[in-house]
This record gives sequence, C-alpha cells and structure tokens, in this order.
Amino acid sequence: MTLVLTLSIINNIMKKLCADCYYIGSEKNKTPGNIVVELFLWAAFFVSFFAILAFGILPPIVLFILSIGYSLHRVAGGKKVCPNCKHTSMIPTDSLRAKEIIESKGINVCEADYSDSKAPQIFKYVRLGLIILVCTVLAIWVLT
Ligand SMILES: [Zn+2]
Repeated sequence: MTLVLTLSIINNIMKKLCADCYYIGSEKNKTPGNIVVELFLWAAFFVSFFAILAFGILPPIVLFILSIGYSLHRVAGGKKVCPNCKHTSMIPTDSLRAKEIIESKGINVCEADYSDSKAPQIFKYVRLGLIILVCTVLAIWVLT
C-alpha cells in the first residue's frame, strides 16, 4: 500500500500536461545548438592546445572558453518540450490550469505515458565526456 502510494506520488510529480495538444506524460529535453559546431570547437581547442609552441597561448584559451561555453549552453540550456507537438507548453498535472483542462476535456490521467525524463540528462554529460575523449585522441593522432 505504501509502495503504491509512493509510486503514484512520483508519477504525479513527473507527469505533465501539454496545454496545446492535451498530451499527458513526461516532458522531452530539446538540446539547443548543433553537435557539429560543438565537436568542431573542441577539436579546434585540442589542436591549438597541442600547437601552443607554434601559435602561442592565446588561441587555446579562447577556444577553451568557447568550447566550454557552447557545451554548457547545450547541456544547461535544454528546453523541456511536449514530445507530441514540440511546444514548450507542458504544465504540471496538479496545477490549477491543468486540472481545469483535464476536467473540461475529460482526459484520462491514468492512461498517461510514464517514460523516464531524467535519463537523457545523464546521457548528455556522458556524451560530453566522450566528445572530449574523442577529440583528445584525434588531436594526438593528428599531431604525432
Ligand atoms: Zn503538446
């Protein structure tokens, strides 16, 4: 009984209603920016880092700030969107506005999609680590 109650509380926290298309479920993370730009910046940083003797200390510092800034912008600046209509109009199902919509549209909240919305956030950091690793290997391979 306690377990069922706890699970239903967790589901209610994660569950959101889209005010535009009335979809109920977890939000989807939408990453801003471009993976190619991110990879290029990191690659440029590593190349300039290994070429300090040729071009000086300034290029790697500037490129490092740009790379970190862009990666953080992509990881932290992610928008939560509705997986159905891609609008940023998801509101918690326990909010007053959501309750009004659910009641007026006769939506069945129990049939909602409970897919985990936390997993992609962790994957983003894993991916960032992999990008740095790949760029390091690439830079070493290019410059030796
Ligand atoms: Zn929607």
